[in-house]
Amino acid sequence: MKALGVAALLLAGLAHAETPRIAVTAANERGVERAFATLSRTLPQELGELPDPDDDALHFLLVSSPDATQESLEALTLDARGRPLDVQVNLRTEATTCPEGVAPELVCRRTPALRLVADELERRHPALERRSLRAELGGRLRLSSAGRRLLELPITGPHGKPSLQARLRVLVLRAHPGGAPAVGGSEAGARQVMERELATASGVWAQCGVELTGTPMVVDPPRGQLVAVGCGAGLPASGGTVSVAQGAKRAQVQTRPGESPLSVAWRLADALGGAAPVFENQRSAAEAVASADLWLRGAASSRTVVSTDPSLPVCVTELNLGDGLSHFGDGDAFVGTPEERALLRAFDDADPSTVEVFVVPRFERSERIGESFIVAPGSSLTSAVVLDRSAIAAGARSFALSHELGHVFLAMPGHPDDFGVDQSWSLMDADVAEPSIFGPRRLSLADCARALTEAGPNALVPVLRPPAKAAR
Ligand SMILES: [Zn+2]
Repeated sequence: MKALGVAALLLAGLAHAETPRIAVTAANERGVERAFATLSRTLPQELGELPDPDDDALHFLLVSSPDATQESLEALTLDARGRPLDVQVNLRTEATTCPEGVAPELVCRRTPALRLVADELERRHPALERRSLRAELGGRLRLSSAGRRLLELPITGPHGKPSLQARLRVLVLRAHPGGAPAVGGSEAGARQVMERELATASGVWAQCGVELTGTPMVVDPPRGQLVAVGCGAGLPASGGTVSVAQGAKRAQVQTRPGESPLSVAWRLADALGGAAPVFENQRSAAEAVASADLWLRGAASSRTVVSTDPSLPVCVTELNLGDGLSHFGDGDAFVGTPEERALLRAFDDADPSTVEVFVVPRFERSERIGESFIVAPGSSLTSAVVLDRSAIAAGARSFALSHELGHVFLAMPGHPDDFGVDQSWSLMDADVAEPSIFGPRRLSLADCARALTEAGPNALVPVLRPPAKAAR
């Protein structure tokens, strides 16, 4: 009698009460009783073969005396602030066999399995329209009959767990100082477009009980230069000088044979008065030691950087978004290109548990629309996503932001289909462009569990954290 607990006990003595009474419980398609509701994560049965029953869709089971009216049954969702979000009026019920333990004079009816979905595409699909409801994490699902509340369930993460928040810093870059932002045409437009993107991605991640927060901002491209010590060589120093000169200001360090690029970068930063932040890069496949970056803020005019150390070249990169952002290939995936590093270093907030989301006008080659930098041993480029305008222009259905955040939350650089496991419905499938209900928009319980392990409150870098107390 696992499917009917409290309701059966309540009703055992109610069959002859004066007012007809209804007891209601909710259960999923496996018959497991639920005191909470979760967002849908599977491709529904109506649209094809399902390997497993839908664990998230909920039937309401109504147990009553035969004369109890069950007319005008209504399912309503409320958003996280308690405002009505969606409704199914005149919800039909069908007669069903009562579970064990229900008094024989009572009758049982049940509603269709209701799916809670985050967007209109799923909500309005003709095959699913009558049993789908828009819903929001932190909201509620309420069943009423003739204006009387029968049951209300909180909308939670998987297994009834409270939601977690990922805090994003969404930065929309202008191509030039004072120029048009990468998306939206104007500053207000850019904020609006990115708020919509965030809401869409938040809807996708609600499947895992994750809410995305952040206020989009429009920013100028950073003014400064990335100085990469040991760039391209990946070798320790062999002895020489590295100098930086700007106007009359000059900083110079003698390098020592065997010294690491990081050590040289630190000493150079000291010589510059300590104002330049230093970052160690992850060693790329071709390097013996890791290179190191210094970010020099301010105008680059007349600045020169020179190295006389034969094994310690120094490269200077300035970010130029006008010609597209040069992006990483397989070999430099964790190192990032100097241009990407210039972008990430310039806006570094020294907090790997916030996720930076950069929106740039475009990548250098047009086939790339998004990329992510994930927490990896030795990498100082963590928890960041870069999208270009075409990833946003593709609209809510490309899920580029959700997908790239998936790499960060799951700490997973690859895709399931890289290993021959084709999961075209999975958010983490490589073919993010399929715009239909069959497209990559779903997160499995295994994905959610992995996100919790890799990025949850107990992870090394807790990107997903309990909501701030003062919220709302
Ligand atoms: Zn990907």
